[in-house]
Amino acid sequence: MRTMKAAVLYDYNTPMVIEEVQLDEPGTGEVLVKMTASGVCRSDLHVLKGEWQSPLPTILGHEAAGRVESVGPGVTRVAPGDPVVLSFKPHCGYCEYCMSGRPHLCAGLGGPAGTLPGGHIRLSKDGNPIYHFARTASFAEYAVIHESSAVRIGPETSLELDALVGCPVTTGVGAVLNTAAVRPGSTVAVIGCGGVGLNVIQGARFAGASRIIAVDISQEKLEFAERFGATDTIDAREEDTVPTIRKLTGGGVDYAFEVLGSGETVRTAFEAVRTGGTAIAVGMAAVGEYARIDAYLLAAQEKTLKGCFYGSARTHIDMPRYIALAEAGKLDLDSLVTRRYPLAEINEAYAALDRGDVGRGLIVF
Ligand SMILES: [Zn+2]
Ligand SMILES: [Zn+2]
Repeated sequence: MRTMKAAVLYDYNTPMVIEEVQLDEPGTGEVLVKMTASGVCRSDLHVLKGEWQSPLPTILGHEAAGRVESVGPGVTRVAPGDPVVLSFKPHCGYCEYCMSGRPHLCAGLGGPAGTLPGGHIRLSKDGNPIYHFARTASFAEYAVIHESSAVRIGPETSLELDALVGCPVTTGVGAVLNTAAVRPGSTVAVIGCGGVGLNVIQGARFAGASRIIAVDISQEKLEFAERFGATDTIDAREEDTVPTIRKLTGGGVDYAFEVLGSGETVRTAFEAVRTGGTAIAVGMAAVGEYARIDAYLLAAQEKTLKGCFYGSARTHIDMPRYIALAEAGKLDLDSLVTRRYPLAEINEAYAALDRGDVGRGLIVF
């Protein structure tokens, strides 16, 4: 057992407490990672605000990178010293989803929310359990994770920036390349230009989209989106999104990505695609949120409405590839990070996200 600093959430709508907690050594099939950096993401904010229920107290944080410190019994895929990106979707390798190439939907690993696969809890404070949010709990100096959550990457890399491959890059770029399989020359709209939205935009640029229309209610975010490849921008406070997209594209885009997580914007994405087009819901909405769509048009215009979880990622294939693409200058990780914080300032980092600051904040250990 080791003692380490972590940010603990004891109750919704209260600040996280930076304090010393205890972490057990990794069990069978588990890996201990020393954290390098962990991104500041809206999914954690959903829990902070009580919009998603999670067993408390918990340590949040789910997009991170670090180095393997030690491994538990039976671990063969990583060794101490290996640089890894943390995946918040561990997978068993043998269930129907894993075997059919969709490990992001794996149903083969048991355990209640807030625990590691198998139901294990390795975090505690004075003998009382602390839950592992997203099976990563990366707002801490160390984390114990399932072996399949430790994605080994190349040695010559910026671990700090690679933290973003743990969530926004894999989700956004994966939504384009895996979930939607955007073809060169297609037209694309992206509704919501936060950390994931910017990655949908640069994924669409990489895929060869001819037109990438960024939609947001922040002029600052729209200007930022242009740096990642947006060819047109729509300020949804000033322009009516759907008619403007139809006008720009002569009837609607081939693909519209909803990256905000609301029923209203899922509907906007559905209405913004042309006949035969595809709308992809990437944003994680509050639990219980509904999207009203025109059921007649769904059939009559043969539209597709698709969900996207974690960029339909095959983590151990996709994450190293995205890092290679970044190293080749085809994806931009550097510009995504707009502010770095020490763990002690994590509550300020979430206040900035909630205010709508551009780009991504990064907690650096
Ligand atoms: Zn995230
Ligand atoms: Zn599985």
